[in-house]
Amino acid sequence: MSENGLGDKFVIGIDLGGTFVKFVYARANGEILMYDKIPTRVSHGAPAILGDIANKINDLVIKNGHGRESIIGCGIGCPGTVDADFRKVIFAPNLKWNDVDVKGKLEELTGLSVFIDNDANLAALGELWRGAGRGVDDFICVTLGTGIGGGIVVNGKLLRGVNNNAAEIGHMTIDFNGAQCGCSNYGCWEKYGSASALIARVLNFLSINKNQRSKIPSIIFELCSNDLSKLDCELIFEAARRGDPIAKSAVNQQIEFTAIGLINLIYIFNPNKIILSGGLSAASDALINPVIETVFKKAPKVSLRELEITVSNLGNDAGTMGAIYLVLNEKSFIN
Ligand SMILES: [Zn+2]
Repeated sequence: MSENGLGDKFVIGIDLGGTFVKFVYARANGEILMYDKIPTRVSHGAPAILGDIANKINDLVIKNGHGRESIIGCGIGCPGTVDADFRKVIFAPNLKWNDVDVKGKLEELTGLSVFIDNDANLAALGELWRGAGRGVDDFICVTLGTGIGGGIVVNGKLLRGVNNNAAEIGHMTIDFNGAQCGCSNYGCWEKYGSASALIARVLNFLSINKNQRSKIPSIIFELCSNDLSKLDCELIFEAARRGDPIAKSAVNQQIEFTAIGLINLIYIFNPNKIILSGGLSAASDALINPVIETVFKKAPKVSLRELEITVSNLGNDAGTMGAIYLVLNEKSFIN
């Protein structure tokens, strides 16, 4: 991989999320010069969001003063399915987008080359280029956040599938009769192993407990100042740490369900590394360490010989680093 002479060229990496659009302005050698973010105006629709992104790109180009000719291009990770020509977002449920020509519109509004890809795939490329996936040929990125996302690298390349829709690991079915998911299917892994799933499980346990004759005492109400809308995963882990039976039981189920998905992935892909990211990956003692312990008890021994499960050291930067890598790769600055 040759990266010589990239210090005087610049790239803009963008991560389009359901709440914020994150930007990094970086040297093409990966050195980040500036971070920025804007809110994603989901209710205003695609034209408004793409207009906001283009304005911010133009703003960053002017602010940094390197001149348009020194910008190699913009890479953007989108939270949905991207078409095989890498122009359009075919479907992005969180943004309520169908068939949006992201590349065409942003190129028209900025005059720069724009490259798009799925956000989880770009996070995997970011890990491959600058993170825990560096020098690893077979690894899986698993984002344990509001939902569960994934990017799979096999033989040093992203696994894309025939319709560019591979690695939707959060939607593998683990219970055919389970709860309905945002994808319309039932019993998807993310309905059991995501942060939203943990919160939903605790709320469900509390509501069952409320109707019991002999109620289990719980400190959860007290921890969230009697306002269950304030309930988040950190608070649940804290309650579990203090021995709250409801929180403990919900976290124990979360550990099992998270491990189930990882074990399935290990059986299918026999990876060298699993790189965890997303909000839940920070809960090392409460969640991640017990998950790893369970995986190492139950996954096939032969697949565990070379396996390492680690937390991403790029964290929130993986997606934007991947977006930069995408541009460099497309423009043949690296290969
Ligand atoms: Zn689903």
